[in-house]
Amino acid sequence: MVILVTGGAGFIGSHVCDELLAKGKEVVCLDSLNDYYSPKAKINNILHNLKNDKFHFLTNNIREKHKLDHLFKKFNFEGIIHLAARAGVRASIEDPLAYKATNVLGTVNLLQSAKEFGVKNFVFASSSSVYGDSAQVPFSEDDQKVGRPISPYAASKASCELFAYNYSQMFDLNVTGLRFFTVYGPRNRPDMAVYKFAESIDQGKPIELYNNGELQRDFTYVKDIVDGTLSAYEKNNWNYEILNLGNSKPIKTKYLVELLEKNLGKKATITSPVKPKTDLDTTHADVSKAKRLLNWEPKTSIEEGIAKFVDWYKKSKTN
Ligand code: NAD
Repeated sequence: MVILVTGGAGFIGSHVCDELLAKGKEVVCLDSLNDYYSPKAKINNILHNLKNDKFHFLTNNIREKHKLDHLFKKFNFEGIIHLAARAGVRASIEDPLAYKATNVLGTVNLLQSAKEFGVKNFVFASSSSVYGDSAQVPFSEDDQKVGRPISPYAASKASCELFAYNYSQMFDLNVTGLRFFTVYGPRNRPDMAVYKFAESIDQGKPIELYNNGELQRDFTYVKDIVDGTLSAYEKNNWNYEILNLGNSKPIKTKYLVELLEKNLGKKATITSPVKPKTDLDTTHADVSKAKRLLNWEPKTSIEEGIAKFVDWYKKSKTN
């Protein structure tokens, strides 16, 4: 039996594929290799798996339902880990239609294929951004105010949750939506603060640290996210659950800069504009539900995780 991982060449997806293969699973990695950031970086993420007989890489687009049908006919999927998306809050303001097309239509296409081909196990990536700026801190899955997203990206992820809930009820699928909190680590997306700050510090360019670095983010190490995702996939025998996966220890972004400076051995030049309206002041995951249902807890401190990220960053620059 084969597991479908969408977005499998991306930052988180490529780590998920690695871990599934390490567990002896057979994986279809579906990724359109879009140019939101370098497609070459995505190929590099999966290059080491291309000769593995249990790894099948396909450059399909989840927006094309007929191609998904073809794929579902060819492989007898035991389950789906759906990570493909247009990610990034700020880019979504420039191009909301791309976010609707991939995140909403693409997710509904996959839910529909799951229903048509009898694939019950459906795990997908949502985001802490769905909490908006009126949620109680720490963010809990029980918060009823969720549903007031402040960016097109957040709106697209909230829509995915609604459609996934609907499909789970109508067609008796087992669905888990995972609200990831600012993920970082090796293969980091280059549009995210951790990477952008590291690159600017390394190259002696100024960084934009909103609100003097007082914003708080619950940075979560990618290995912890992968462990939580696979645990959700293995345990997914309920009808529908939404779970936070976050470090649950938010830090100020100025502390992130200090850690990057220390590990890079270079000082940052800082400018401090006011944060855009679409950015949250703070993100902080209450992970008690993931602990209860998945027996999952984040294990990597920010100090340890940033050291590992910088290690990878330095190596990736010399390759
Ligand atoms: P990523 O951009 O590295 O990975 C997404 C992958 O999806 C990319 O490789 C991209 O080529 C692929 N893709 C995009 N559109 C596609 C389409 N139409 N058809 C097929 N493939 C397509 O992003 P990531 O950081 O690895 O994020 C993975 C998932 O986790 C996404 O759903 C994202 O929204 C979610 N998420 C990420 C974070 C984070 O901090 N990285 C936080 C919250 C949620």
